[in-house]
Amino acid sequence: MTQPALHDLGVAQLATELRERRVSAVEAAQHFLARAQNHQHLGAFVALNEDATLAQARAADAQLAAGTGGPLAGLPIAHKDIFVTRDFASTAGSKMLAGYQSPFDATVVARLAQAGCVTLGKLNCDEFAMGSANENSAVAPVGFDAPAPVRNPWDTSRIPGGSSGGSAVAVAARLAPAVTGTDTGGSIRQPASFCGITGIKPTYGRASRYGMIAFASSLDQAGPMARSAEDCALLLSALCGPDPDRDSTSLDMPAEDFSRSLNDPLDGLRIGIPAEFFGEGLAPDVRAAVDGALKEYEKLGAKLVPISLPRTELSIPVYYIIAPAEASSNLSRFDGVKFGHRANQYSDLLDMYKKTRAEGFGDEVKRRIMIGAYVLSHGYYDAYYLQAQKIRRMIADDFQNAFKNCDLIAGPVAPTVAWKLGEHGSDPLADYLADIFTLPASLAGLPGMSVPAGFGEGGMPVGLQLIGNYFQEARLLNAAHRLQQATDFHLRSPL
Ligand code: GLN
Repeated sequence: MTQPALHDLGVAQLATELRERRVSAVEAAQHFLARAQNHQHLGAFVALNEDATLAQARAADAQLAAGTGGPLAGLPIAHKDIFVTRDFASTAGSKMLAGYQSPFDATVVARLAQAGCVTLGKLNCDEFAMGSANENSAVAPVGFDAPAPVRNPWDTSRIPGGSSGGSAVAVAARLAPAVTGTDTGGSIRQPASFCGITGIKPTYGRASRYGMIAFASSLDQAGPMARSAEDCALLLSALCGPDPDRDSTSLDMPAEDFSRSLNDPLDGLRIGIPAEFFGEGLAPDVRAAVDGALKEYEKLGAKLVPISLPRTELSIPVYYIIAPAEASSNLSRFDGVKFGHRANQYSDLLDMYKKTRAEGFGDEVKRRIMIGAYVLSHGYYDAYYLQAQKIRRMIADDFQNAFKNCDLIAGPVAPTVAWKLGEHGSDPLADYLADIFTLPASLAGLPGMSVPAGFGEGGMPVGLQLIGNYFQEARLLNAAHRLQQATDFHLRSPL
């Protein structure tokens, strides 16, 4: 039997190979670094630092030799460039932070390093994680001297999804066995769906936001993206945990073993099917794949229960008020004084602020800062921001009502498969509307994931979204794992 190539191994398999010393951490790192170089045209990586990666790999090998390595010792991973890292520049996809070098690692990065992971590099994303297509990155990918599109490996004329587009591409194209992403309104689930991989956003507060460059702090949440639910569970167990001294919204809950119930049977599991997720806007090819996955669940013993999330549509205006409001506040720190870009020429302090921000931020970021400042301003606060906060609470209540009758909720991740690069042109609303199915769980702070469910138009992947009640990550991963044992969509590769 021929050995599978290193990049064809999942996290669990590769970690075993490393632990049993059939492959060294340095060999694994070199293999994936070479693969990153050979697939530069996909635009996934924005920073590599071979010396730093190999130094981390040698340290992992020393631990593996001494038998002191963590559960993921030597496992190569890569991080969305929204996490700050000591060994690699951190840009958040923005010119504002071009060349910025952080003096510390984000908590999520540090925890994964503690578990033994070796960092291959940083992955492209929309500027400050604002976007649904990764078309808003202002940073040149490795191998390019100007910003270039991140390409979906299933069809390079299409977008990978966003904002964690580089992350999803790296996993789908086998440039890393697993990566980190962040999800504010869908940025783990939607690119995972568009690239045919698995991704999970845990309950808000499970993963520390320390060192995650802030977009909308009441929504931002980190999570893993990998090929399978089993692999995601391993990473999630390593990266979650309390960080109360550094993140005021970090939950005071001990880290869990999210793999513990992967194999539990699904007999009697009640899966809620929200009517609002299956309306007119849902493309027939996506619907067919999602229906197919739901049939599998019935075969596995689950029961489908019709439910309603009546304010689904309102999640778009509510999110696109609250997220920009928080962004306008968070991004005020980029003023040319403390760090990042500063305009070369200016007449006085105010002029320096203005020019620095005009030059450093891209159009989408400016649009959100303006919307955010507007909805927070005197006279409009009550009409927009306060109303949005009230409806946000109602959306969360709708989920609690629904969970009286079901254990999990399932539906599509996005209304369509990945669209063509440039197809939404300069119409930001087209992107916003495509977020309709991921925003509700984000606004409620609930855990959600995307699981490969089949293929649609143009042979593009379709993800099934699973949403759980608070702290039900293990149950979500269990449901996803059982589906993956019955199907092979997550094993298919575009390359
Ligand atoms: N597409 C959404 C936005 O543009 C979500 C982004 C995210 O989750 N980071 O805000």
